[in-house]
Amino acid sequence: MAWVLATLAGAAMLASSEWVRQRELFETDARIVHRLLSQRVVQHDAILATLSLLQPGRDGADADAPERRLPALYPQILSVQSLQPGATWPTVALQTAEIRSRTLQRAALGATDLAAGRYQLVLAAQPESYALDIDMRAMVPWSDWPHAPESSPVRVALELNGHSFVLQPGREAASLWRFDFHKHLAAESQPFNVQASRTLDWAFWPWGWMTAWALACAAALVALRHLQGQRAQRQRAEELLRLGQVTRLNTLGELAAGMAHELNQPLTAILASTQAASRLLDEDPPELTTARGAMTQAAAQARRASDVIQRMRRLVERPDLAGQTQAVNLADAASRALYLLQPECERRGVKPNLQASQPVTVLADAIALDQIVHNLLMNALQALEQSPADNRTLSVTVKSEDGKGELLVADSGPGITDDVLPRLFEPFFSTRDGGLGLGLSLSETLATQMGGALSAFNRKPQGAAFCLKLPLTTQP
Ligand code: ADP
Repeated sequence: MAWVLATLAGAAMLASSEWVRQRELFETDARIVHRLLSQRVVQHDAILATLSLLQPGRDGADADAPERRLPALYPQILSVQSLQPGATWPTVALQTAEIRSRTLQRAALGATDLAAGRYQLVLAAQPESYALDIDMRAMVPWSDWPHAPESSPVRVALELNGHSFVLQPGREAASLWRFDFHKHLAAESQPFNVQASRTLDWAFWPWGWMTAWALACAAALVALRHLQGQRAQRQRAEELLRLGQVTRLNTLGELAAGMAHELNQPLTAILASTQAASRLLDEDPPELTTARGAMTQAAAQARRASDVIQRMRRLVERPDLAGQTQAVNLADAASRALYLLQPECERRGVKPNLQASQPVTVLADAIALDQIVHNLLMNALQALEQSPADNRTLSVTVKSEDGKGELLVADSGPGITDDVLPRLFEPFFSTRDGGLGLGLSLSETLATQMGGALSAFNRKPQGAAFCLKLPLTTQP
């Protein structure tokens, strides 16, 4: 969506700037065309005025008649006609034009044939009046013309009373987009309208730039996504590390309890064995073989005790942790844990489902709550490994019931056997290879410390469910 929007916005900007650029170019050229043609028609007025001014000094010397030389000087002037006093014009159009010229006190148009690109311009004067036959095509100063007339896409025509003479055909096409320019020539006597137009087809738009822009946007977004992905991965790793540290710290209490239980037994055994060995050595003669056996037993028990201590040392890193209760949104805690475990879920092909129809806010130690949810989800994921890949479901449901906030983690794993169920929350009880057996016991302790409870049950037709209940914030 972001790519489409960025591409469209960029393409629109490129198209609009191309449109503005081309329109300015078109209008500049059209103004040049208008100026050049206006200069020509004004020139025609000047020629006629000059002819009428010059005539009194001519003395009938035909050879010097300037009108004869005009066509050679001005290629657009095909011929010059003059009317001797008392004579009449050969055509009605010229007669009418002379009358109009006299009334208007300026040159007037005679016969105009725009299809052929010809028109006549008449100036009534004393004693002779003059008429010019003008070729409209030859009127164009092609050397200064802003377009290449054969290939230019711009159409230029001179228009009068619905007829037009095309100076340059341009490229006309059925299109939604076009530029237009209309302006009358700057001579009242020759009121031709300059019409310039350009139709724009699909090829007009800057497709190359637009494509480059779209590709650049795509590349930028891919790079951004990649960076975001990397950042999320880093954050996730940091969070997991933090949670791991906290877990290790919290397990310290559990460990102490478990160790008291675990060390008590080997220490008692060592004491008994060494006392027995001492007694045997005191006998006369000393029972060396039996005493040696008792010492070997004591050494084995001491090794077991050492193993327990080793396990503790691995878990302990920092001694600082203080939990404080606060209002925590249960669904948020579940989302956080699911986010952290996303790679674990993906690795096992599990798509967790979080259901939270209403917001449930509980009073809890946020870190401890994170730990419990993390433990429950991790256990469920480990249990799901024993289920076929196409039957692995994991759901987390958040609701409030009986004045408590409830978070239920349910999986479709093998469930909990009857002999395991009563021992689940015992420290160091584990059925997993390499399992420490502290996750659930720690979680239960934390839940109880926060005034809540953790329970487990089997689901129908299969799977286990763990229910964490915590006091709602509304409770005193
Ligand atoms: P461990 O490190 O062994 O997983 P825990 O305290 O987390 O320690 O769990 C104790 C035992 O409870 C596990 O070894 C397993 O047998 C059982 N258990 C925990 N969660 C589940 C579950 N979702 N489904 C089946 N058994 C479970």
